[in-house]
Amino acid sequence: MQIVFGDWHKTGRIDLEAVEMLVRDSMHHAGAATVQRLLCMPESHDHRVPCACGQQAQYHETRRKQLLTMLGPVVFDRAYYLCPSCHQGQSPRDQELDVVGTECSPGVRRMMAVVGSESSFDGGRQQLHLLAGLEVTTKAVERHAEAIGADIVGREQNKRDRIVQLEFPDILGAAVPVLYIEMDGTQLPMVPAELAGRTGRSPGQPARTREVKLGCVFTQTTTDPEGRPIRDTASTTYTGAVETAELFGPRLYAEAWERGWDRAQKKVVLGDGAEWIWNIAGQHFAGAIQIVDIWHAREHLWDVAAKLFPSDEKQRKHWAKKLIQKLNRGRVETVVAELRDFPTRKPELRDALRIEADYFERNRDRMRYPKFRKQGLFFGSGVIEAGCRTVIGSRLKQSGMFWTVRGANAIIALRCTRLSGKFEDYWASRLLAA
Ligand SMILES: [Zn+2]
Repeated sequence: MQIVFGDWHKTGRIDLEAVEMLVRDSMHHAGAATVQRLLCMPESHDHRVPCACGQQAQYHETRRKQLLTMLGPVVFDRAYYLCPSCHQGQSPRDQELDVVGTECSPGVRRMMAVVGSESSFDGGRQQLHLLAGLEVTTKAVERHAEAIGADIVGREQNKRDRIVQLEFPDILGAAVPVLYIEMDGTQLPMVPAELAGRTGRSPGQPARTREVKLGCVFTQTTTDPEGRPIRDTASTTYTGAVETAELFGPRLYAEAWERGWDRAQKKVVLGDGAEWIWNIAGQHFAGAIQIVDIWHAREHLWDVAAKLFPSDEKQRKHWAKKLIQKLNRGRVETVVAELRDFPTRKPELRDALRIEADYFERNRDRMRYPKFRKQGLFFGSGVIEAGCRTVIGSRLKQSGMFWTVRGANAIIALRCTRLSGKFEDYWASRLLAA
């Protein structure tokens, strides 16, 4: 206050920003002193406490701990116990305060998880400095955000294991009119160690990326007056990881289960033509209507058209539009026939046409768009494609970012949890499960 008023007397002006920063800092100092006094209140300690090994740990000494709180650093003493049987040390006070093995308070850790999931770790450090007046290192933001993300990953694994063993509790609730499941893959740049022995996407090239599989679940209750589907507000939840389809399938099933898979009157799986998507749909989502994203199907026709008429734009457009119209009318068999019967002697074109004809034939029942339209269903997978950009791309695919599988999966789990509106529940429940 002396500094503030001294300045004002000298210049007759108030530099509001300097004043508010100064006052906030001193408020934090005063607050930290209060918190520290509270933590330093003499505690009566037991002579023995139970140890995780089943024996009793004995009081050993009083030990000092440093802690960064939302108000700044504090120091306090607490009783420390040693187990004569397994030699593990512990401080029950740390457990009570939720600061076991960490030098940051729960409030600071939550902040680091939030900023670390939103932006680069160094961007997060800068935000904490500006918004909260906290000095932390970039590495600390990374470590804590990833630790919290890894904790979420561990819980998801437990959930998945319980499902595989069919030990999942039934969830009661209102029926869901239509439940949608969408999934997609997107490539993530990785550090070299995570790519060893992997072949790249283009033949002969070393791998630079690995695939993140992302899934989302959302619901639909109604259609608009024109019969177009309306996604229920804030009904989308996400789950994803760099992992095999064998692991991703049960992950997505666990998410769908929580969202009312069992109570859904109509179930839809939407995706592009990727084989793993339909394998998962067949294995985990029996009874769902399977739909190939209409934009992907159209894209396939545009790609063939470009190969058939590389230099004749008019013919290319004419041919593609003709087949797209048949596709829109649900006449997939006609599209397949057109592809199979296209007159050409070039072997590479014949191969391309056969591959595309097979694609449409294999997916024909997933392309009955007029039928889906009549039922008021979505038949474009825009939600998961937007999800790949907002959940994964905007945070994890910034230039110069290379990930380990563990680090990427921690941040993906953190982002999915936050963007699904589940982070507060997770944070509140994390001590119960410990
Ligand atoms: Zn022990």
